[in-house]
Amino acid sequence: MFPTPPDASHEAGLAHLNAFIPHAGADYARWRNHDFGPDGDNRVSGLSPWLRHRLLLEETAIDAAIDTHGLEGAEKYIQEVCWRTYWKGFMERRPVHWHDYRAACDEAHGQVARDGRLAADLQTALDGDTDIDAFNFWVHELRDTGYLHNHARMWFASIWVFTLELPWALGADFFLRHLLDGDPASNTLSWRWVAGLHTPGKPYIARSSNINKYTNGRFNPGYRINTQVAAPEGIERPPVGPSPLAVDWAVTPTTGLLITEDDLLPESLFGTRDWPLVIAVQSTDWRSSGSVADRVRDFAHAGLADALARNPGGRTIGRIDLATADGLTAVREAATAAGVDRLLTPYVPTGPTADAMAALDSVLAADGIERQAVPRDWDVLHWPAATHGFFRFWKAARPLIIERRSTLA
Ligand SMILES: Cc1cc2nc3c(=O)[nH]c(=O)nc-3n(C[C@H](O)[C@H](O)[C@H](O)COP(=O)(O)OP(=O)(O)OC[C@H]3O[C@@H](n4cnc5c(N)ncnc54)[C@H](O)[C@@H]3O)c2cc1C
Repeated sequence: MFPTPPDASHEAGLAHLNAFIPHAGADYARWRNHDFGPDGDNRVSGLSPWLRHRLLLEETAIDAAIDTHGLEGAEKYIQEVCWRTYWKGFMERRPVHWHDYRAACDEAHGQVARDGRLAADLQTALDGDTDIDAFNFWVHELRDTGYLHNHARMWFASIWVFTLELPWALGADFFLRHLLDGDPASNTLSWRWVAGLHTPGKPYIARSSNINKYTNGRFNPGYRINTQVAAPEGIERPPVGPSPLAVDWAVTPTTGLLITEDDLLPESLFGTRDWPLVIAVQSTDWRSSGSVADRVRDFAHAGLADALARNPGGRTIGRIDLATADGLTAVREAATAAGVDRLLTPYVPTGPTADAMAALDSVLAADGIERQAVPRDWDVLHWPAATHGFFRFWKAARPLIIERRSTLA
C-alpha cells in the first residue's frame, strides 16, 4: 500500500503516483474491488492521503493515467478519482449536509450520554470487540494504519448502521478521526450513501458472500450480519446551491499567502513568488469534537511544512494551530507585523477547515485584513455538474476531461 507512515510531501506523492500508474489500466479495473488485507497485494493506488490534502491534484493523477493507458484504458481509475471531485462538488452545493452531520454527531453524543446500553455497544464497536471478526479486524486496521480499502469502508459502514445499529454520524466521526485521507465530503456523503440517505430506497447492504469473495476468503461473517434492512423513508433533498465561480485575483506588495491543509500545492495556482508573508495554518483538530489520531495530525503537519518549503516568503511564519484562539490571533498579528492587508489562499471547500476559516475571517476583519479565496479551474469546471447521481456527473465530466486535454496539447 503506502509506506507507514506515508511521507506527506508533494515529491513522495508524485513518486507514489509514478509507481502506481503502470497498474492504473486493466489491472486496476479487474482487481480494484479486492481487499487482500493490509499486507496483501492490493491493486488500488493508496494515493488518497495526498489527493485529499491536494499534495497531488486530481488532474495530475488523471493526466498521468491517460498518458500511459489512454482515457478508455484507464477509465475505471479516472472515474474513481472523479468520485472525489463529484463528492466535493455535491457537498459544496449542499453545505447543509456538513452542518447536519455535525449536529447529528452532537445529538448522538447526547444519546450515548443518556443511554448506558448504547454507550456500551458503541465502546465495543470502537474497541473492535464485537462478535464479527471482519469488523473487528477493520477497526484495528484503521487505527493502526489510517487506511481502509474502499470495499472494507462500505462493509464497515453497513455493519455499523444495520447490524450494530449505531448512529451513522458516530461511525463517520470515527473514520474522520482516523483516516489519513479523512475528507468532509467523501466521508460524510459516503456514510450517508451507505445508510440510504443519499439515494432514496437504496441503502448499501453488506453481504457475507460478497465479503468472503472480495477478501479472498479471509472473512465469512455469515448470519452475524443483518441483511434484512428497511430503507429509510422521508428523506429530504436540500435545494442545490451555487458552485464557486472563477475570481480575478492579483498580488500586490501587501498580499500574503495563507496555506491550509486542504490545498498544499498553492504554487500551482499562484506561481512561486516573493511573498512578503507566508503562513501555514493547521486545522486538523476541527475535524471532530473528539480526539483526532496523532497520525492524521502529523500527516497534515508534515504536509504544511512541505508546502512552506516550496513557498518561501519574506517572513515565513510557519505552522499555526487554529484550534486555539491564540492561533487565530497569531495569524492576525503576523499579517499586521508584515504590513499585509490581504491573504490569498486556495479556496477552502465546506468542512472543518472552512469552519476554521470563518472563525479566522472575523478575527482578521477586526484589523481590516481580507482573506481572498481563489477556486481552482478544475473545481470551477466540474462542480457545477454535481447536481444528481455520479453517473450523470460522469456524463458531463468525461467530455470536460477530453476538452481540457485538447487545450493542453
Ligand atoms: C464509508 C466511506 C467513507 C469514505 N471516506 C473517505 C474519506 O474520508 N476520504 C476519501 O478520500 N475517500 C473516502 N472514501 C472513498 C474511498 O473509499 C477512498 O477514496 C479510497 O478507498 C482511497 O483509497 P485509494 O487511494 O487506494 O483508492 P483508489 O481505488 O486507488 O482510487 C483512486 C482515487 O480516487 C478517489 N476515490 C476512489 N474512490 C472514491 C470514492 N468512492 N469516493 C471518493 N473518492 C474516491 C480517491 O482520491 C483515491 O485516491 C470513503 C468511502 C466510504 C464507503
